[in-house]
Amino acid sequence: MTHQNECKRCGTCCENGGPALHGQDLPLIEKGLLSIEYLITIRKGELAHDPVTDTIKPVKNEFLKIKGTKGSWACAFYDKNKKGCARYDNRPISCGVLKCWDTKESLGLAGKDLVSRLDIVKENSPMRERMITHELLCPLPDMNAILRTVSRPSRKTVKKLELISNKDITYRMKAVDEFNLSVEQELFYFGRPVFELLSVLGFTVSETPKGIKLEFK
Ligand code: SF4
Ligand code: SF4
Repeated sequence: MTHQNECKRCGTCCENGGPALHGQDLPLIEKGLLSIEYLITIRKGELAHDPVTDTIKPVKNEFLKIKGTKGSWACAFYDKNKKGCARYDNRPISCGVLKCWDTKESLGLAGKDLVSRLDIVKENSPMRERMITHELLCPLPDMNAILRTVSRPSRKTVKKLELISNKDITYRMKAVDEFNLSVEQELFYFGRPVFELLSVLGFTVSETPKGIKLEFK
């Protein structure tokens, strides 16, 4: 049996998801080599894969990652035809240390020195205050608690989550209108809408004249 000791350029790691950003990646943003349109914010409390424990759990601190493409988490910079990275020379540090055959280095980096939105958005940007207020007014619901009860959430729970979803969407849409934000910018500044996170857990979302309606069938 032969042991793998080099990258076979199969692309599996890039197709599994874009990398999280670390402090060492900040120069990419400062030099304009990576723009916020390519980043997605994973907010505190969102469910995400923890590579250290190989489990899905709420994240303790927010982090940023390269967004996915075409409705999947496959890294936006992965070129499927060429089976390679479109940003190879300027790829984030966690891609540089990733060796699927020897995960020691990448696991050593996982979860450490993660970059957040406030590391990027300048002090004088009006979006800073908006992001901070959004976190205060619209924190994510307890995803662990939802996961535990998701097979039988009470009507009261569904109603509460519906209220949270509407508060979240109202706040972000106000900023979208005021600052003419693109969808990509919205996903960076405010993360994914709460209703979208809940729909992944099996909630049905519909739009009504009064706002979002949440159901669990
Ligand atoms: S590091 Fe491993 S999974 Fe990633 S492209 Fe190379 S061989 Fe494939
Ligand atoms: S930035 Fe490049 S190397 Fe890193 S996951 Fe994306 S495509 Fe792969």
